[in-house]
Amino acid sequence: MNIQNYINGEFINPTSNAWLDNYNPANGEVYGQIPNSSKADVEHAYQSAKSAFPIWSKTTLDERSRILIKISELIEANIDRLAEAESKDNGKPISMSKAVDIPRSASNFRFFGNAITQFASESHESVGQNAINYTLRQPIGVVGCISPWNLPLYLFTWKIAPAIASGNCVVAKPSEITPMTAYLLGEICNEVGLPKGVLNIVHGLGTTTGQAIVEHPNIKAISFTGGTATGAHIAKVASPMFKKLSLELGGKNPNIIFADCDYEDMLKTTVRSSFANQGQICLCGSRIFVEASIYEKFKTDFVEKVKQLKVGHPSEDTTDIGALVSKSHLEKVKSYIEIAKFENENILCGGNEVKVEGFENGYYLEPTVIEVDSNDCRVNQEEIFGPVVTLMPFNTEDEVLEMANSVKYGLSATLWTNNLKRTMRMSQEIQAGIVWVNTWMMRDLRTPFGGVKASGVGREGGFEALRFFTEAKNVCVNS
Ligand code: NAD
Repeated sequence: MNIQNYINGEFINPTSNAWLDNYNPANGEVYGQIPNSSKADVEHAYQSAKSAFPIWSKTTLDERSRILIKISELIEANIDRLAEAESKDNGKPISMSKAVDIPRSASNFRFFGNAITQFASESHESVGQNAINYTLRQPIGVVGCISPWNLPLYLFTWKIAPAIASGNCVVAKPSEITPMTAYLLGEICNEVGLPKGVLNIVHGLGTTTGQAIVEHPNIKAISFTGGTATGAHIAKVASPMFKKLSLELGGKNPNIIFADCDYEDMLKTTVRSSFANQGQICLCGSRIFVEASIYEKFKTDFVEKVKQLKVGHPSEDTTDIGALVSKSHLEKVKSYIEIAKFENENILCGGNEVKVEGFENGYYLEPTVIEVDSNDCRVNQEEIFGPVVTLMPFNTEDEVLEMANSVKYGLSATLWTNNLKRTMRMSQEIQAGIVWVNTWMMRDLRTPFGGVKASGVGREGGFEALRFFTEAKNVCVNS
């Protein structure tokens, strides 16, 4: 199936007629083509967004809200079709796309459809000066949204929904590796009656299409989620043009387990936080630190549970671990297993490719647990972004804190303990944008979402996102 760009409410081919193959990771076959959009296509998308802006930015909040909520309803009504498309494009189990990706994409539109009706600007009475200051929160204009392949529609809509809710018009690019559900979103927007040009979706490589969005002089804000190296490149290109930037980047998140935690709950959740979505979630707890007194027990129980995970075709309901997203990503993840072997780390389970019967060319890998003896090794320092976690004991709170913070990343952290004082002490000290205590991936869309250090700058979620997509203008009125 061939995908087209969605510009000004129409589905069109790229002007240069350049196309890329789209792979199904579950069987390694090409199943369609997508545009590799050029500067000219991005310009076309920009012009369409620019034309839509004067009317959309003045559309009442009530009407914008109604449209966003309608989009969320149609996503829900199409859950089966979207979940299937997501699973086929990405390799994730259909059970995951049905339970997480697609419902969350619908929630993103519903949430921001409601949030915009509650978003208010501030006013300040300047006592003694007979003046009132009030702050306008105005949409920026045309903004760019660029998203990755791991949670395709979920992260795409996490940007688009607040951008259009706050009155902007958008030029958006999904990952070229997983473009399908973004394409289907265009159909839904048309069915709902989103005015033409408010959302434009261009497909293509980061280095061509993405670069053209970032370089465009009149696309004044870029909301990006992806790798740290790409984020650094985007910052370099966009900063001299003084664009607003939100960068959600990589992670190497610590999962810190104390002996006083609720053990069974921790064990079950740690399997999930290690391997959900084939470990391809920026929030996965890829470095597991366990208090020495329960280390051996945990090691045995964890490895036993991991060995029970079923690697299989994404469309099977019994599959826990589907296919990795691409051949090159599989090779990258495997290379880290080789590095671990080379560094004499102890592979406790997994480490091998899996041949799923009937789908031998798919990109399957066993869930892998590596015991390491130092936090300094490469598998503990570099983002692998696959079904690979490391295990290491610790003795004291200070020691584990030091290790948790000794990486360049700072996205999220998980703490397992029933000690309230320790929870509060450690949450203060951990260098991360998100700390989960006795849970993982529990989300409330009102909360700030993002990382510190090489995990990015800026926060998404709730009013933070609406603030990012608006400019504050203070008006001082003297009476
Ligand atoms: P990536 O950086 O390769 O690509 C992300 C997007 O950027 C894609 O759409 C790509 O086409 C585009 N892109 C690439 N080069 C570009 C350029 N020069 N200019 C503009 N756009 C460009 O990342 P990926 O491999 O798709 O995703 C995996 C990474 O994303 C991991 O590092 C992961 O941790 C990170 N991630 C972070 C979060 C978060 O919220 N912090 C969430 C999910 C994924």
